[in-house]
Amino acid sequence: MNISRPRPKLDAENRAFWTGGSEGKLNIMRCGDCGQYTHPPKLLCRHCQSENVAPQAVAGTGVIDTYTINYQAWMPGLEVPFVIARVKLDGVPGVYLTSNIVGCPVDEVEFDDRVRVTFEEQDGIWYPLFRKAG
Ligand SMILES: [Zn+2]
Repeated sequence: MNISRPRPKLDAENRAFWTGGSEGKLNIMRCGDCGQYTHPPKLLCRHCQSENVAPQAVAGTGVIDTYTINYQAWMPGLEVPFVIARVKLDGVPGVYLTSNIVGCPVDEVEFDDRVRVTFEEQDGIWYPLFRKAG
Protein backbone atom coordinates (compact mmCIF):
# COMPACT_ATOMS: atom_id res chain seq x y z
CA MET A 1 0.00 0.00 0.00
CA ASN A 2 1.16 3.48 -0.68
CA ILE A 3 0.36 5.15 2.60
CA SER A 4 2.58 7.42 4.59
CA ARG A 5 1.43 6.33 8.01
CA PRO A 6 1.34 8.49 11.10
CA ARG A 7 4.55 7.77 12.92
CA PRO A 8 4.22 6.83 16.58
CA LYS A 9 6.72 8.27 19.05
CA LEU A 10 8.57 5.27 20.43
CA ASP A 11 8.87 4.96 24.18
CA ALA A 12 9.35 2.27 26.81
CA GLU A 13 5.67 1.39 26.69
CA ASN A 14 5.14 0.97 22.97
CA ARG A 15 8.57 0.11 21.52
CA ALA A 16 8.03 -3.66 21.55
CA PHE A 17 4.71 -3.26 19.74
CA TRP A 18 6.01 -1.00 16.97
CA THR A 19 9.34 -2.76 16.41
CA GLY A 20 8.40 -6.42 17.01
CA GLY A 21 7.81 -6.81 13.29
CA SER A 22 11.58 -6.67 12.75
CA GLU A 23 11.55 -10.18 14.25
CA GLY A 24 8.19 -11.10 12.77
CA LYS A 25 6.55 -10.79 16.17
CA LEU A 26 3.30 -9.16 17.17
CA ASN A 27 4.00 -8.13 20.75
CA ILE A 28 1.16 -7.34 23.13
CA MET A 29 1.68 -6.30 26.76
CA ARG A 30 0.80 -9.08 29.17
CA CYS A 31 0.52 -8.98 32.93
CA GLY A 32 2.72 -11.37 34.88
CA ASP A 33 0.31 -11.33 37.79
CA CYS A 34 -3.19 -11.75 36.35
CA GLY A 35 -2.21 -13.00 32.88
CA GLN A 36 -4.42 -10.49 31.05
CA TYR A 37 -3.37 -8.37 28.09
CA THR A 38 -3.23 -4.59 27.87
CA HIS A 39 -3.50 -2.71 24.59
CA PRO A 40 -2.64 0.02 23.63
CA PRO A 41 0.62 -0.85 25.39
CA LYS A 42 1.07 0.49 28.90
CA LEU A 43 3.51 -0.33 31.67
CA LEU A 44 0.52 -0.83 33.93
CA CYS A 45 -1.98 -3.67 33.71
CA ARG A 46 -5.42 -2.29 32.85
CA HIS A 47 -7.05 -5.20 34.68
CA CYS A 48 -5.25 -5.29 38.04
CA GLN A 49 -3.00 -2.18 37.95
CA SER A 50 0.11 -4.34 38.38
CA GLU A 51 3.36 -2.96 36.99
CA ASN A 52 4.53 -6.52 36.35
CA VAL A 53 3.84 -6.33 32.62
CA ALA A 54 6.00 -7.26 29.66
CA PRO A 55 5.54 -7.64 25.91
CA GLN A 56 4.61 -11.11 24.77
CA ALA A 57 4.56 -12.36 21.18
CA VAL A 58 1.05 -13.53 20.28
CA ALA A 59 -0.09 -15.77 17.43
CA GLY A 60 -0.75 -12.91 15.03
CA THR A 61 -3.91 -14.49 13.71
CA GLY A 62 -7.48 -13.41 14.22
CA VAL A 63 -10.81 -12.60 12.64
CA ILE A 64 -12.25 -9.43 11.16
CA ASP A 65 -14.66 -8.13 13.75
CA THR A 66 -15.78 -5.15 11.71
CA TYR A 67 -14.46 -3.18 8.75
CA THR A 68 -15.05 -0.25 6.49
CA ILE A 69 -13.83 0.52 2.99
CA ASN A 70 -12.19 3.88 2.51
CA TYR A 71 -12.68 5.40 -0.95
CA GLN A 72 -11.50 8.88 -0.07
CA ALA A 73 -8.00 9.95 -1.10
CA TRP A 74 -7.64 12.22 1.88
CA MET A 75 -4.00 12.89 1.25
CA PRO A 76 -1.81 13.12 -1.84
CA GLY A 77 -0.55 9.81 -3.17
CA LEU A 78 -2.99 7.72 -1.17
CA GLU A 79 -4.10 4.66 -3.11
CA VAL A 80 -7.81 3.99 -2.71
CA PRO A 81 -9.88 2.08 -2.01
CA PHE A 82 -8.49 0.27 1.02
CA VAL A 83 -9.92 -1.56 3.98
CA ILE A 84 -9.79 -0.39 7.57
CA ALA A 85 -10.65 -3.29 9.83
CA ARG A 86 -10.92 -4.09 13.49
CA VAL A 87 -9.27 -7.46 14.09
CA LYS A 88 -10.08 -9.63 17.08
CA LEU A 89 -6.82 -11.40 17.91
CA ASP A 90 -6.72 -15.13 18.61
CA GLY A 91 -5.71 -15.99 22.15
CA VAL A 92 -5.67 -12.37 23.30
CA PRO A 93 -9.03 -11.81 24.98
CA GLY A 94 -10.32 -8.27 24.85
CA VAL A 95 -7.69 -6.97 22.44
CA TYR A 96 -8.65 -5.60 19.05
CA LEU A 97 -6.28 -4.00 16.56
CA THR A 98 -7.49 -1.44 14.06
CA SER A 99 -5.42 -1.81 10.93
CA ASN A 100 -5.60 -2.37 7.19
CA ILE A 101 -6.37 -5.56 5.28
CA VAL A 102 -3.88 -5.87 2.43
CA GLY A 103 -3.08 -8.32 -0.33
CA CYS A 104 -6.58 -8.77 -1.74
CA PRO A 105 -9.24 -6.71 -3.53
CA VAL A 106 -11.42 -4.76 -1.08
CA ASP A 107 -14.57 -6.56 -2.22
CA GLU A 108 -13.13 -9.88 -1.04
CA VAL A 109 -13.11 -8.76 2.57
CA GLU A 110 -15.97 -10.02 4.76
CA PHE A 111 -16.91 -10.05 8.40
CA ASP A 112 -15.39 -13.00 10.27
CA ASP A 113 -12.68 -13.55 7.68
CA ARG A 114 -9.61 -15.16 9.16
CA VAL A 115 -6.53 -13.00 8.89
CA ARG A 116 -2.87 -13.14 9.74
CA VAL A 117 -0.54 -10.30 10.61
CA THR A 118 2.01 -9.00 8.15
CA PHE A 119 4.35 -6.10 8.75
CA GLU A 120 5.11 -3.03 6.69
CA GLU A 121 8.26 -1.24 7.73
CA GLN A 122 8.57 2.51 7.34
CA ASP A 123 11.54 4.29 8.81
CA GLY A 124 12.11 1.94 11.74
CA ILE A 125 8.44 1.36 12.56
CA TRP A 126 6.94 -2.03 11.70
CA TYR A 127 3.25 -1.42 11.17
CA PRO A 128 1.11 -4.51 11.82
CA LEU A 129 -1.25 -5.01 8.87
CA PHE A 130 -3.34 -8.08 8.09
CA ARG A 131 -3.79 -10.41 5.14
CA LYS A 132 -6.51 -12.94 4.62
CA ALA A 133 -5.37 -16.33 5.86
CA GLY A 134 -5.76 -19.45 3.79
ZN1 LIG B 1 -2.85 -7.73 35.71
